[in-house]
Amino acid sequence: MSEIELSKRQEQILAIVKDSGPITGEQIADKLNLSRAALRPDLAILTMSGLLGARPRVGYYLTGKTPSDVIAGVLGNIKVAQLQSQPVAVRNTCSVYDAIVTMFVEDVGTLIVVSADGHLEGVVSRKDMLKAALAGTNLNNLPVNVAMTRMPNIVVTYPDESILVAAQKLLSHQIDSLPVVNILEVDGTEKYQVIGRFTKTNITRLFVQLVGK
Ligand code: ADP
Repeated sequence: MSEIELSKRQEQILAIVKDSGPITGEQIADKLNLSRAALRPDLAILTMSGLLGARPRVGYYLTGKTPSDVIAGVLGNIKVAQLQSQPVAVRNTCSVYDAIVTMFVEDVGTLIVVSADGHLEGVVSRKDMLKAALAGTNLNNLPVNVAMTRMPNIVVTYPDESILVAAQKLLSHQIDSLPVVNILEVDGTEKYQVIGRFTKTNITRLFVQLVGK
């Protein structure tokens, strides 16, 4: 879906404003045979979304933006750093058992696995743990780095990356979270310093905040 879905009435309002704007809410209501009050929620949505402008004593006018301009304008300017959560990481030497306990205690679905110096080594998800558990080995003796997805196959994001790009990475790789990293040069090799995590929950929270609920 590339456009926001407008209701039939919202489409009608846009058409009236296009033909007759600037036009007052009262006049739009008359043309639609509705009360001003019945129209208020639709007018609020159309002005909040940036499709309609409103000037006191003049009325409503078209801003000329399309619904997708409005969405891209808002989301394209938000950076990962503004939404990211604290990283939840375990050492690569941690056992699968302890990693599972950490998942419960920290209430996350994915753990970031780091080396002793804090560099990104891998990611371990719920299903990775289930697979390890199904194998029937003693999870206390199984290091988490046997169960994890490891570098260089980890998909990451950066604090100054647009959340749209980060969201596309989540979708195209069918994963729930991305480590947020800064790139470091260590002894001539590139390392990732983990500074956060970006998840589907961050996007869901933004979605609700944008509507002001
Ligand atoms: P779950 O396994 O709980 O459904 P995901 O969909 O996030 O969680 O993980 C699916 C697989 O992708 C797992 O094997 C996991 O290790 C791997 N994975 C998760 N996040 C990433 C990432 N950022 N980069 C690469 N692989 C990942």
